[in-house]
Amino acid sequence: VMLSDGQRFTQAMLASQNNHFAIDGYLTKNCIIKATRFSRSKVQDKTIIIILAMDVVKQEKERLGMPQSILDEGPTFAQPATPTSTKTSTINKISAGAATKSFTKASGLKGEPTITPINQLSPYRNQWTVKARITKKSDVRKWSNERGSGYLFNCTMTDETGSIKATAFMEQCDRLLKEIEEGKVYYISKGKILPAKKIYNTTGCDYEITFNESTNVELCNDDSNMPGGFSYTVLANLGDLSKDDTCNAIGVVRSRWRTWNNHEENSAPHAHIIIVDHSGFSCKVTLWGKVAEDFDVKDQPVIALRHVKVGDYHGRDLNFQGDSSMTLNPDLKEAHFLRGWYDANGLTYKFQPCQGASGSGESGLVNHSQLMTLEEVKSKNIGIKTTSYFTVKLRVKATPRIKEENRHMPISYPACRSEDCVKGLSYDDSDRKWHCAKCSGCFDAPEYRYLMRISLGDHMGSAWFNIYDNVGKLLFEKKAEVLEQMKVWLGIS
Ligand SMILES: [Zn+2]
Repeated sequence: VMLSDGQRFTQAMLASQNNHFAIDGYLTKNCIIKATRFSRSKVQDKTIIIILAMDVVKQEKERLGMPQSILDEGPTFAQPATPTSTKTSTINKISAGAATKSFTKASGLKGEPTITPINQLSPYRNQWTVKARITKKSDVRKWSNERGSGYLFNCTMTDETGSIKATAFMEQCDRLLKEIEEGKVYYISKGKILPAKKIYNTTGCDYEITFNESTNVELCNDDSNMPGGFSYTVLANLGDLSKDDTCNAIGVVRSRWRTWNNHEENSAPHAHIIIVDHSGFSCKVTLWGKVAEDFDVKDQPVIALRHVKVGDYHGRDLNFQGDSSMTLNPDLKEAHFLRGWYDANGLTYKFQPCQGASGSGESGLVNHSQLMTLEEVKSKNIGIKTTSYFTVKLRVKATPRIKEENRHMPISYPACRSEDCVKGLSYDDSDRKWHCAKCSGCFDAPEYRYLMRISLGDHMGSAWFNIYDNVGKLLFEKKAEVLEQMKVWLGIS
């Protein structure tokens, strides 16, 4: 933990008998504690306070003051007379409470190097180790200017106090590219700290790091308390997000389309993939430009998508944009879970498309470049001999109105509730139940499914269309049962 009295902060550790404060959730960020017994200990030339007994006084939302590191200019308060040995401790009474600034680790009195919070990094500090999660990592990028050319990758490191961008050029790029993985937590030490070039830097940090030959990167396996872990939106919940929101998603790549160049001029090449997850939903993801061209995967990998943009094309879809990133088969527990789930269930599972317009996500795409008018469909005899697909853009001209004169016009039909059987049920007065002739199912009530004729038209003409349940739900934004209920209330049935 970080302890602060509002003026200075310093690193401290909880003796394990105090772990319950953390486990039970009382020890929250910025809370005020009373350290009733503590000692000091030297760990790798740094003094660390070990809290032996404490109480949580108050939970606070805001940080107390603007504390600076105690290492910067020495302490501003009188040091209590405490022994330096870790084996003995003195009971110290302090009147002022101290605020824990950030909570990094609840147990373990040794093993971790002294950690510098990211918001304390500056060009004036040359000994530092941060414990940070790589929340973003770029591909290798080439650069060239009047002074030469080369290549680099950069990444964003995040801890509880903030984020900082780091860049590895040339040899360091070669050395660290494989070593640093997005999403993982590392101890990272040494490197050149420079003022941030704000145009290219969105971390909000005043500084950025250039990795150099002395930069050391060590994987940290205890990342449980680090922020920036992969939190993601389950595909079933994409509908809760608004258009243009960004989110993370993880899914199994179930299918993809070949990249193509749209016929329209200046249109970037794009490709689509369908991802599915354990919520039983599938979602289209659109990739653009080079990402789309380079996307070539086999064996239905798990894909983790960060910072993708939500679209509302036929429900919900996702768009890979400039600052999105993806990882194939990432080493995340969510990914391992999904892999296991998909291999056991996914191949035969009937996924429901987030976009919802058609029965399957794969065929739900509308190709705008092949829009036809109703006249063209009729004059070309499309669909007369064989089933064929075409795309039209039409306005709803008429739907059945729920009124007495239309009582014979169906809106829906009473369907069988058995899985994969949507046969119409017939009501039997003798047992007052609904019976299915196809699967012999017998139900107290049917599931009403849309079945109606509506008139759709464009500027050239109109036609009647049969509407089934999937389209009916989209059109009326409610289940057919709700409309049937309406009929009952109105006395029409
Ligand atoms: Zn049935």
